[in-house]
Amino acid sequence: MAQPTSPEGEEWPCPGFTTHPQNTAGPPEMVLSWQDETRSTCTAERRRVLFHTCACLETSYEFLGVGGMYGFRRIRRSAPKAVAYAGPWQRGRAEKLWLLLINGQAR
Ligand SMILES: [Zn+2]
Repeated sequence: MAQPTSPEGEEWPCPGFTTHPQNTAGPPEMVLSWQDETRSTCTAERRRVLFHTCACLETSYEFLGVGGMYGFRRIRRSAPKAVAYAGPWQRGRAEKLWLLLINGQAR
């Protein structure tokens, strides 16, 4: 399952102090509904990144505050780079889902 390592991997040293999502085997407890970021999700309101996972991994996540609501951004940095968005939710709900996400229980 491991990605083949390549010299380019060296450009993304792991700082080691950021969250790494768990990679659990088996089906997740919850599957989030991710949509391409090319739609309305990337327009309009200013977004703030409140938390993020480590960028050393192929897939990283951001916890965003968007106009009083909260959502996630998923960035897959392999070519072609793919960015998707899930949410928005109220903060309490979003924080629960974020924990599931970084524990590998949601995808
Ligand atoms: Zn890392």
